[in-house]
Amino acid sequence: MLRIPHTLYHDLRQHGEATYPHECCGILLGQVDGDTRTVEEVVRCGNTRADSPHNRYHIAPQELIAAQRRARETGADIIGFYHSHPDHPPQWSPTDFAEAHWIGCSYLITSVEKGTAWVTNSFALCGTVEENKRFEGEEIQKL
Ligand SMILES: [Zn+2]
Repeated sequence: MLRIPHTLYHDLRQHGEATYPHECCGILLGQVDGDTRTVEEVVRCGNTRADSPHNRYHIAPQELIAAQRRARETGADIIGFYHSHPDHPPQWSPTDFAEAHWIGCSYLITSVEKGTAWVTNSFALCGTVEENKRFEGEEIQKL
């Protein structure tokens, strides 16, 4: 389960509206307790993938490192990632799955229909290693 304050939930959805018709992406910092992740901070990232920004997202290594440092400073962890699907359903794509490597993290996808954030789904990346990883839909609990 992913627990997230209303304001942060709104923030990550609004990010998808701001970058429309391109995808947005970002990192979630917070706390982990078993299978429950609680978001404390949303870190917006630039969409640095130039080839096809409307249906591919990519977080630059520098942004990931900065987020890791930020997490360490605040006693948090990287607990998830989010991106948007402009005019596409909020379901993970084969590319999303192939590029997901953070087992134990949540991956949020927001569909943005004609510029308006619509549905946000969260998928936990389960398993133990790259070879048996899988996405499982999880509940989003707004705080
Ligand atoms: Zn995607």
